[in-house]
Amino acid sequence: MTQPRTRLTNAALLERSKHHMPLGVAENYRYWGDKETLFLESMKGCRLTDCEGRQFVDFRLGYGPIILGYRDERVDSAVIETIRSRGVTSGFSSQLDTEVIELLKSMCPNVDKMRFANSGTEAVMGAVRTARGFTGREKVIVVEGGFHGLYDEMMWRSDVERWEVGSEQDPEIIPFGAGLPVSTRALSEFVPLNDFEALSGVFERMGDEIAAVVLEPIMGNCGSISATPQYLQALRDTCDAHGSLLIIDEVKTGFRVGLGGAQEFYGIYADLTTYAKAMGNGYPVAAFGGRADVMDVIGQTRQSVVHGGTYTANLIAISAARATLDILKNTDAMETTHRVGGQIREVLSRVFDHHDIAHAFAGPD
Ligand code: PMP
Repeated sequence: MTQPRTRLTNAALLERSKHHMPLGVAENYRYWGDKETLFLESMKGCRLTDCEGRQFVDFRLGYGPIILGYRDERVDSAVIETIRSRGVTSGFSSQLDTEVIELLKSMCPNVDKMRFANSGTEAVMGAVRTARGFTGREKVIVVEGGFHGLYDEMMWRSDVERWEVGSEQDPEIIPFGAGLPVSTRALSEFVPLNDFEALSGVFERMGDEIAAVVLEPIMGNCGSISATPQYLQALRDTCDAHGSLLIIDEVKTGFRVGLGGAQEFYGIYADLTTYAKAMGNGYPVAAFGGRADVMDVIGQTRQSVVHGGTYTANLIAISAARATLDILKNTDAMETTHRVGGQIREVLSRVFDHHDIAHAFAGPD
């Protein structure tokens, strides 16, 4: 018989966990301060319950993946059924791999071929490596304010906190923190979003060294600032003119701003795209893919790009993706998301107006 658990406070749990984990948390972004760090008991729908029994409405939804709400019965049952009847990971292929990609391609028709990954970070790493392998070039242009995961070369950013607005000087590019080899800094060039001159300046200087431009079309990690359609078109044209690839990071926008992600919304298509978060409703699944001729650089000869990993396309991930994508495609989930999103904006706007708080909403309408 299981013993009833004694209820502990957030503060007590943090004090204990600090002996075992840096900051007392499993990853940096869960530490919100000594008084604010939460330890959850459970999640359901849009609600979180913490260890003290307090309920919260979670607008962040686990950094984004929980598109259908926490503990969606349909997705969870599909995963549990798969684990029970088939298993989890074997290092072999299954027919489900192809079925998920066929489903994904029916929503994102610009994608020809794909590979799976376990996180958004891994998907970006795979896409960038593939772009480098295909072009034989090393440099990548990153659009300022974008976030592409926690791996060394993507952990450089513009220091806008110490930059004077309107200054002629570009903000300094600084590392996220310690431990990043300075040599990884040289792999990227940074350009401000929606700045045509900066983009053409970099391409004029070193166009034949640029493997790819990587951007979040709607910067979910930077106040949802959005690329203009003209800028995306300029990116598309400039990449084509210089033989560089356009990588659109749809880890946040994929299956959210539209079934076909931001690319369907803008009508401008990437050579390679990364997906994660919403494709698995919280189960760790990700993918990258795009043009067949580009993806086919992945292979087993010495000239090919290597991609793989023990847990890639494990059956938990794949069955979650199949169930989630099926629901997003074949129910009114997407319309509901957009309708409720609009209602939340309206309510928040009324509250802010009532309290004379200046506000603006960013992101796609
Ligand atoms: N790209 C984007 C646009 C993201 O928002 C994130 C995560 N916030 C990542 C990549 C990295 O994804 P993950 O945390 O799954 O590694």
